[in-house]
Amino acid sequence: LVPRLRPFTSTIFAEMTALAVRTGSINLGQGFPDTDGPEGMLAAAKDALYGGANQYPPGPGIPELREAVARHRARYGIDYDPDTEILVTAGATEAITAALLALTEPGDEVIVIEPYYDSYAAAVAMAGATRRVVPLAPGGTDGHGRFLLDVDALRAAVGPATRAILINSPHNPTGTVFGTAELSAIAELCVRHDLIAITDEVYEHLVFDGAEHRPLATFPGMRSRTVTVSSAGKTFNCTGWKIGWVCSTPELVAAVKAAKQFMTFVSGGPLQPAVAYALDHELAWVDGLRDSLAAKRDRLGAGLTEAGFTVHPSLGTYFVCADVRPLGFTDAAQLAWQLPERIGVVAVPVSVFTDHPEQWRHLLRFAFCKRDEVLDEAIERLRKLA
Ligand code: PMP
Ligand code: GLN
Repeated sequence: LVPRLRPFTSTIFAEMTALAVRTGSINLGQGFPDTDGPEGMLAAAKDALYGGANQYPPGPGIPELREAVARHRARYGIDYDPDTEILVTAGATEAITAALLALTEPGDEVIVIEPYYDSYAAAVAMAGATRRVVPLAPGGTDGHGRFLLDVDALRAAVGPATRAILINSPHNPTGTVFGTAELSAIAELCVRHDLIAITDEVYEHLVFDGAEHRPLATFPGMRSRTVTVSSAGKTFNCTGWKIGWVCSTPELVAAVKAAKQFMTFVSGGPLQPAVAYALDHELAWVDGLRDSLAAKRDRLGAGLTEAGFTVHPSLGTYFVCADVRPLGFTDAAQLAWQLPERIGVVAVPVSVFTDHPEQWRHLLRFAFCKRDEVLDEAIERLRKLA
């Protein structure tokens, strides 16, 4: 393996899920739901599968899906031409990697917000670019509030080599959702320094307590410099389908396509019509999903608090972060590796998503996108830690 990829030999999700299977533990590590997506979407996939949609779809994705994505983005008040400004990808993961391969090169710096989703660092490394991390910090006087963007730190990180900034909101792993002030500050910086923003919006529908997801592309000056990425996995409970998309200008989409076409060329033939159907017809189902996830967040959050953790507020995604120090532990990574044997629960240490593990060593990430009875059993087990 070439040196620049040596830090990326295995993913924490593969490791933790293997550990969960090996020990028969409840897996609150890897974020995937344990129920299926909307009936109508599954039926549409079956119809497509038996209806002959089993050969290569067109390179940019089937027109029906690109048109449905355009209609979906129009809900935010932003128009994309399905023919030239939308590209279907093998999940958000491929979209992000292809964008970085297409738009950055050795010598370029890419700003990533820490903690960051694991594929970002690997994708920046594959592109041969350099990552520059800017940390999130917990707000509130007690330090246990929602995680906030440190706008001054972000400004300080931009330099002559900065080419792009990767923004993930709603944010995995903290569950923070950037507000207008944070997004405006990012937008101003991008415009002032002529940066490209790559936005990972895969949790765009999973926001709670009245929080609003606002795409960065809707901010002044950002439509022309934002590569917006999203996917169907989280919105429609189908993380294994890996149908994602990119929305941007014709030039930026053509660039991303140039890289993407030699990674997978195309993927998910019979799934593309089903996702198109879901984007057009299943958003009411997604409202129900969002409400049920908010209740699950509360359920697991209350259970973790009772078990002795200090839980940070999560406004979106599948995840809550919990501080292990009140239970007498100092190292959440060490604890994460012991939890399966000790009590039969898997969680992910937040430090694995960072370049500064010492600053994040007290936090565990728990996924709450599970059936209530699974969460309840996990809470029972977590109580034994006290
Ligand atoms: N970005 C974030 C923040 C994620 O949590 C995930 C995990 N699903 C992805 C991207 C990957 O999305 P996809 O499965 O569509 O590739
Ligand atoms: N997005 C999921 C998570 O953060 C996992 C995706 C994966 O397994 N690569 O848990």
